[in-house]
Amino acid sequence: MAEQTAPLFMATRRTPVATAPAGQRIYFVSLGCPKNQVDTELMLGQVEAAGHQLVHAPEGADVIVVNTCAFIDAAKEESVDTILEMAQHKTKGGKLVVTGCLAQRYADDLAKDIPEIDHILGSADFQSLAKALSPQPAFTLPSGGSKKKRALPVIQVSETPTYIYDHETPRKRIGATHSAYVKIAEGCDRPCSFCIIPKLRGPQRSRQIDDIVAEARALGRAGTREINLIAQDLTRYGWDKGVAPADRQTLAQLVRALGKVDELDWVRLHYTFPSAFDDELIDAIASEPKVVKYIDVPLQHISDPMLKRMRRGHSSRVTRELMKTLRTRIDNVVIRTTFIVGHPGETQAEFDELCEFVAESKFDRAGAFTYSVEPGTTSAMLPHRVDADVMAERQQTLMEIQRKISRDHHEAMVGKEIEVLVEGVSSESEYLLEGRWYGQAPGIDGVTYLSDGQVPAGSLVRARVTQASDYDIAATLELS
Ligand code: SF4
Repeated sequence: MAEQTAPLFMATRRTPVATAPAGQRIYFVSLGCPKNQVDTELMLGQVEAAGHQLVHAPEGADVIVVNTCAFIDAAKEESVDTILEMAQHKTKGGKLVVTGCLAQRYADDLAKDIPEIDHILGSADFQSLAKALSPQPAFTLPSGGSKKKRALPVIQVSETPTYIYDHETPRKRIGATHSAYVKIAEGCDRPCSFCIIPKLRGPQRSRQIDDIVAEARALGRAGTREINLIAQDLTRYGWDKGVAPADRQTLAQLVRALGKVDELDWVRLHYTFPSAFDDELIDAIASEPKVVKYIDVPLQHISDPMLKRMRRGHSSRVTRELMKTLRTRIDNVVIRTTFIVGHPGETQAEFDELCEFVAESKFDRAGAFTYSVEPGTTSAMLPHRVDADVMAERQQTLMEIQRKISRDHHEAMVGKEIEVLVEGVSSESEYLLEGRWYGQAPGIDGVTYLSDGQVPAGSLVRARVTQASDYDIAATLELS
């Protein structure tokens, strides 16, 4: 569920990657969400396996690959800007390849408007990248000259994306060794009215439990301590169309299986759906020691008429009961959520109801996004659009309510001892380390600043909280 999960989604990264042996020199830019990051890592693994070099900068690269995002306007703009910028770096005879969600959604426009692009691969067609880059036999022109024939038509975009990788697919990790994303399923079958993802990523297809466990074990052996399970809707894992109920694998079964992977310390669940929790899953999360008691569940709204307009398929009663159940059944559970403000039809009264809900629910983490009109979604055709200024005001109001709550949660932690996964030396100061306790997910939540000692990145340490701020905490290492 590519719910608008705060920074995650907004966090675009240019991913210069390490040099390696001979072949074409390839530079990648990876934009968008962790699911796109995994796709980039699979492309890196693919081209490296094909003997190509991965380089740190676009200058002088034979091939530049931009893995794009197209979830909302801001992401689309950034993807187009990045492609145009990379086109400047394209060398004579070099290639510019565009992959990901913008390619899936606007292939023809991209091909027409940006002639510098050589190949456009859809969100589930990136496994053809190496073939696109393979040298092509020249052919003789009637005039006697010769010209290289393109390996693939400029555009290779599956109308219905169906591809999903497995643990044998080459994957070159980017980012910290000690924390990795594992995509357990791709695509989505839900009808949320504001969301374009099902059109970009296709129908849901889940990997098998033993395949995911094999990948998790291999990652653990390679130094990963924390795996972050991702999908468009994690809680729908196994419910693929055409799979008989009796043959379905469930997220609870997967969580239990991952709980037995000795090489891992933390298993974190992202992108769950409020109405898809059942007792089996809640018990598995509550009782598996390796599963961190952190629930990422984008709720989007609380007003019943709005949940109906958003086609979320459940009522506010379901949401409220879930919050109560999670807090009763999972000790010290940390709940992260996100909301959309300004969806067509949102009245002041509905927004006030949302503010009251956020104030009384005291979420540990909450983000608010302004609605983005996405052509091709049901919401894009709805009347009663909310004015952009009003949307921005509502976002600010909601985030101000949450800022105080977040700070209160952190102040209540002062003096407490916590376990922290060390990320490394802090960008704030060389005398500080940065890390995360289980209540802080990578890339989207605040951090824990650690003083009084130096330990390597990837260490799991005990620390005592000394200070609180709105979104971060500070703690002293307890090395004894
Ligand atoms: S359709 Fe709904 S559940 Fe699926 S990705 Fe979009 S917001 Fe998430």
